[in-house]
Amino acid sequence: MKYFAAYALLPSGLERDVVLDVLDGRFASVTPDGSPDGAARLPGVVLPGSANAHSHAFHRALRGRTQSGADNFWTWRDGMYALASSLDPDSYLALARATFAEMVLAGTTTVAEFHYLHHAPGGSRYVDENAMGEALRQAAVDAGIRLTLVDACYLAGGLDASGHRPLEGPQLRFGDGDVERWAARVASLPPSDGMRVGVAAHSVRAVRHDDLAAVAAVAAAVDGRPLHVHLSEQPAENEACLAFYGRTPTELLDDAGFLGPRTTVVHATHLTGSDIASLGGSRVTVCACPTTERDLGDGIGPIRALHDAGCGLALGSDQNAVIDPFEEARALEMDERLAALQRGRLPLASLTAAMTDHAALGWCDAGRLEAGARADLVAVRLDSPRTAGCDPAEVVFAAGAADVDTVLVDGRVAVEGGHHVIGDVGRLLDAAIAPLWRAR
Ligand SMILES: [Zn+2]
Repeated sequence: MKYFAAYALLPSGLERDVVLDVLDGRFASVTPDGSPDGAARLPGVVLPGSANAHSHAFHRALRGRTQSGADNFWTWRDGMYALASSLDPDSYLALARATFAEMVLAGTTTVAEFHYLHHAPGGSRYVDENAMGEALRQAAVDAGIRLTLVDACYLAGGLDASGHRPLEGPQLRFGDGDVERWAARVASLPPSDGMRVGVAAHSVRAVRHDDLAAVAAVAAAVDGRPLHVHLSEQPAENEACLAFYGRTPTELLDDAGFLGPRTTVVHATHLTGSDIASLGGSRVTVCACPTTERDLGDGIGPIRALHDAGCGLALGSDQNAVIDPFEEARALEMDERLAALQRGRLPLASLTAAMTDHAALGWCDAGRLEAGARADLVAVRLDSPRTAGCDPAEVVFAAGAADVDTVLVDGRVAVEGGHHVIGDVGRLLDAAIAPLWRAR
């Protein structure tokens, strides 16, 4: 199949009249200054597929339900726990399928799902110990998105000056008992065509120092396996970690051998200067989740300083109160402007790289419009009320999810004319979410 784009963002920059030849799910060739003859014309400007490096699919059911009150991160978490208690593999499948379909509609071609909803309420095991993970695998297949299932070790219910607390109440279904049983369950989760398995420690609140090292070892045992962790999203995590360990969360992770090029730290909002130097020196990727961080009142992370120190940048929709890669990408720059009282804090190329680089998700052959890469593309309209008149080179500052016209994932058409091939995604979401609230 051959496609023609009047504008396309290639590794060399924005090019004109680009012919993209797709064969067996990959680009056989990508050629600028070509002819549209014999090719299907794509509208607007064509970008690589977006990589969503951090999602909790089930949080999508909280959108527009928990956002108006005067609560804080910790009371929001109580609401999230109540929702988590109501899901089983069937309802999790329906919710994740609809949520992943919304991501594809917005131009996302791979999602890293940070998965900790492992077991049945109370912590008892399903017959298949990975029934909830398998629901995510099926959801991704149905939605036409590639999945990195980032299985998160979650063993403790919190941290304060006296140490870690045991899991309790809704948290019980997150835990495997100990790190060995977590690792054994992850080992029984096979990768498949559209799914890879990554691992995570939920946070320094949920995983003790020695177990952090064990989780890092599970990642290191498999070539290219991503290793993720929530880091310093809230000041209270830093205060508890300092009170108990006498070290910041970053120092603790470094000491446990957790930091390196395969590592992605999510949020990294409240850091010391020495934390920033350590993360940069270790070449970790920082995954910012700007729409979530603003919704939860987390704060603005030192993204420019982390980038300057040597960190790669990635983006995540996290709680999925917003699913819009364009909004996340420009928020990196906009939040920097607010914090620094200065424009032009991050190069445009760094914003598009954060949006499209698939390395943190473990798919190094995706996210580029070039010969040999996986044939993912996103055609963004330039004639919508939002994008009309904009320079195609700056479309990230103008477009939103609703401007995505066509999405290809591994050469397959997932979205055409702004519609997902699965059907009406709004209806799918409503059908998945409404029963969860009726039951409460
Ligand atoms: Zn998260």
